[in-house]
Amino acid sequence: MSIPDLATLHALGAAQQPTYPDSAAVDSAVAKLRTLPPLVFAGECDELKDKIAAVSRGEAFLLQGGDCAETFAGVTADNVRNKLRVLLQMAVVLTYAASVPVVKVGRLAGQYAKPRSSDLETRDGVTLPAYRGDAVNGFDFTPEARVPDPQRLVDVYNSSAATLNLIRAFVTGGYADLRQVHTWNTDFVKESPVGQRYEAVASEIERALTFMSAIGADPVEFHRVDFHSSHEALVLEYEHAMTRIDSRTQMPYDVSGHMVWIGERTRQLDQAHVELLSHIRNPIGVKLGPTTSPDDALALASRLNPLNEPGRLTFITRFGAGRIRDGLPDLVEKVTAEGVEVAWVCDPMHGNTFEASSGYKTRRFDDVIDEVQGFFDVHRSLGTWPGGLHVELTGDDVTECVGGGEDLLEVDLGNRYESVCDPRLNRVQSLELAFLVAEMLRKA
Ligand code: PEP
Ligand code: MN
Repeated sequence: MSIPDLATLHALGAAQQPTYPDSAAVDSAVAKLRTLPPLVFAGECDELKDKIAAVSRGEAFLLQGGDCAETFAGVTADNVRNKLRVLLQMAVVLTYAASVPVVKVGRLAGQYAKPRSSDLETRDGVTLPAYRGDAVNGFDFTPEARVPDPQRLVDVYNSSAATLNLIRAFVTGGYADLRQVHTWNTDFVKESPVGQRYEAVASEIERALTFMSAIGADPVEFHRVDFHSSHEALVLEYEHAMTRIDSRTQMPYDVSGHMVWIGERTRQLDQAHVELLSHIRNPIGVKLGPTTSPDDALALASRLNPLNEPGRLTFITRFGAGRIRDGLPDLVEKVTAEGVEVAWVCDPMHGNTFEASSGYKTRRFDDVIDEVQGFFDVHRSLGTWPGGLHVELTGDDVTECVGGGEDLLEVDLGNRYESVCDPRLNRVQSLELAFLVAEMLRKA
């Protein structure tokens, strides 16, 4: 089984691609990438697909989270650990409070390319190409930094390899051991009300573990977790170069990450992204915004999952708090009526972005919660399974989204606004979200 070449894909039309000034440099970066080893194994992608199949059967819950845009400078031990830590804490809360297995997927080790609503950015009368993520150009607002440089794709590979290496060490080497459940609750978060609430859960888990060990039970699941990587498959050169034929099955897999998704802006049925992802065997996601018709979703499902294989396809809905209750039911109902196998996941971030008076892009914590609640309500009323949560978050104490228990205000945004793209939940807000969603899950 082979895949279409890059020229064929580009000829189909590809939205949101960089315009590289030097095509020889592109060829050389792609040639280099093709020689580099896989970042993940095809067998691991299959394992994740099986887990997502359990999500679509209503037997598990997907937690997918991380930065809107990773940066090369952000590949530090502290930063990677902090992101993993908040995801582990959220997963513990969800698993413990709702008694549902949680499939853990990071938006990391590859999340470096961004679609933009505008090709250009203007500041103080100066207009330059928009920043498209570290995979494409530099964040600095200078003409030099904003020129797309294909060598950055090789840097994406190296940064992803370093991130994934550390993540693999953490999740199998003792950091993710359940007996560490208290130690994840460190520094600023521990003193917050939600940190105290987490302490109580951690203590209960610790008691249960002590009991298990007293009766001689010590399964391997207590000592390590399964954790998978994911990113938006956006820059065709990178994803194509990282697509390889698996020696076991002779099938193509995109070995740049376990799961990849197609964004809201690149899901045109007959164009390059849908075509490329229709050929790879990874579990894949598609973002669906509020304009998605049931026919659009059905057409995507039959293009991307013609055999209707469970676990292959995840629909990540991102309608916005104000539209989900009206818009989602028709979509879910018609897709379900056709017998389409899909995991439904809620992205409560991308439909709820607005610009604060200070000029910062932000989101209200209450809108995020309201969209998740709407998602659960719709699925409950239709008898379908609210399969997961897709969120932008960080393990640090940033000030990017307003509201939450610490009641961050718009005037606070400048204190620690570090995202190069969309606003992320900070660690306290992320944990608060996990407790609220656990509550919803318990009732689901
Ligand atoms: C994103 O996930 O960062 C993103 C750009 O989302 P969407 O494609 O849903 O707008
Ligand atoms: Mn984003």
